[in-house]
Amino acid sequence: MSDLVSVFLHLLLFKLVAPVTFRHHHYDDLVRMLYKVHNECPHITRVYSIGRSVKGRHLYVLEFSDYPGIHEPLEPEVKYVGNMHGNEVLGRELLLQLSEFLCEEFRNRNQRIVRLVEDTRIHIMPSMNPDGYEVAAAAQERDISGYLVGRNNANGVDLNRNFPDLNTYIYYNEKNGGPNHHLPLPDNWKSQVEPETQAVIQWIRSFNFVLSANLHGGAVVANYPYDKSLEHRVRGFRRTANTPTPDDKLFQKLAKVYSYAHGWMHQGWNCGDYFPDGITNGASWYSLSKGMQDFNYLHTNCFEITLELSCDKFPLQEELQREWLGNREALIQFLEQVHQGIKGMVRDENYNNLADAVISVGGINHDVTSGAHGDYFRLLLPGTYTVTATAPGFDPETVSVTVGPAEPKLVNFQLKRSTSQAAPKRRIPNSGHRGRVLPKKVQPRAARKKEPMMKQPQRGPA
Ligand SMILES: [Zn+2]
Repeated sequence: MSDLVSVFLHLLLFKLVAPVTFRHHHYDDLVRMLYKVHNECPHITRVYSIGRSVKGRHLYVLEFSDYPGIHEPLEPEVKYVGNMHGNEVLGRELLLQLSEFLCEEFRNRNQRIVRLVEDTRIHIMPSMNPDGYEVAAAAQERDISGYLVGRNNANGVDLNRNFPDLNTYIYYNEKNGGPNHHLPLPDNWKSQVEPETQAVIQWIRSFNFVLSANLHGGAVVANYPYDKSLEHRVRGFRRTANTPTPDDKLFQKLAKVYSYAHGWMHQGWNCGDYFPDGITNGASWYSLSKGMQDFNYLHTNCFEITLELSCDKFPLQEELQREWLGNREALIQFLEQVHQGIKGMVRDENYNNLADAVISVGGINHDVTSGAHGDYFRLLLPGTYTVTATAPGFDPETVSVTVGPAEPKLVNFQLKRSTSQAAPKRRIPNSGHRGRVLPKKVQPRAARKKEPMMKQPQRGPA
């Protein structure tokens, strides 16, 4: 009897957690799918929540790693975030497909996927705005059209205009000297952002992410920072202008890796727009303030791009399989991009790991730091670089490094305690920064005024 019950329960369970098919997933369904993948691949996955939405829905993340839940030194962390705009739903479905694909291919011993999972810690958040999604999905089911229905969170706020504005400070510092990375948050930042944004900020501060993509819809293009132009507003109008980061060439390459591995993004003509190579600098398309990708670059070690993946923000179910096939290779190749440039350990003479050591690359005015375990990751294009590691109380160490096109180069630093009695020198050789000081936190800034969020009124934002 109990055997029969058990068989029945198994059948029922199997029915409830059918394979990810090409259909849209409501919140409960999405949660079931994440746990289904976890149950199928328990040794290489972990499901965790980074917090809750306004309506109390969890912001779930599925992690892939050979040691889930653990940061292994020298193994980079990478993330995908989908559905930040609740009505832009393709990313959400693609990330569910990707999750199942990684699990299945790992189980099939697909060597490329095994290597990826063993060498990388991958965090996948299919929905950053589960409340907005439910509004958009309900409207879709009732055939109520509306370009922006469900875009915002339950408080009516556009989450991609809700991050603290650090661009104003970096543009000032680029001109006048000052920190070029890890710009601090205002003291009262938590009171200025939505629960979803707060959860994401705490998340990206607690992992040493190296690479990321934020999946949107409404266009087909890979968009890289900065999103905010130097003169964001001139006499009340948004100023559109190419606004490169110090890592512009690298960001272009990251964006191109996606667009060229994508079925049609690289062709340039999509949704009535033309983007050469299927990529664009954010601010040269339209300037937006308080976006997530600029924040990642300016506040953390993470290099994030924004992927616009479909003309139709809520594609028909029948489109999903074609979209998955068009994006699958690109989603994998982009993750593999985290394995380039240089990485290594920063230690003292007694082999103690040094966290928050600063890694500067000559000619690139954007430093990164070592993580809590003393390991650092610096994405770089192939070339020869002068790299300097510094930490308070230690003498800087500078090396010359040649980076090839494939594997990241291992460059370890062993810093000697500064022998001078005086306070440690704050000069960084070859850093190309004019008189900049080490990243002592700059003064907290006053709250910025909130601003309206629309950019391209004729089409609506993507
Ligand atoms: Zn969007």
